[in-house]
Amino acid sequence: MDCLFCKIIKGDIPSNKVYEDERVVAFYDINPECKIHVLALPKKHIESADHVDETNSGDIAYIFECIPKIAKLAGITNGYRVITNAGSDSCQSVNHIHFHILGGEKLPEHIK
Ligand code: AMP
Ligand code: ZN
Repeated sequence: MDCLFCKIIKGDIPSNKVYEDERVVAFYDINPECKIHVLALPKKHIESADHVDETNSGDIAYIFECIPKIAKLAGITNGYRVITNAGSDSCQSVNHIHFHILGGEKLPEHIK
């Protein structure tokens, strides 16, 4: 499958990892939009939030269990924003669901 994030998960493309377990991986965004910008995603290929259903919602719930740990490991101490883009109008550019974790500084109201 020609999916950039599946290739990162397999280790075919390098990434700067913050956290990994059997279901979730988190790594620094290559083009950060703020001081600390991490992407958290399921290892299972789910295209976007628009493709979440009863067969895969457990993986999404589990990411949200991991997000506090990931934020801490990334050095975020004073709050963060979690964003996911889904589909064309949102400007989703990688079609493997991922959650932007943005922090490390006071964020503008609109980012990502
Ligand atoms: P989105 O636009 O919501 O689909 O977000 C995709 C994100 O992936 C963007 O913020 C990119 O900067 C980021 N990105 C693209 N390629 C890589 C990569 N090889 N390693 C880390 N982040 C990447
Ligand atoms: Zn994928």
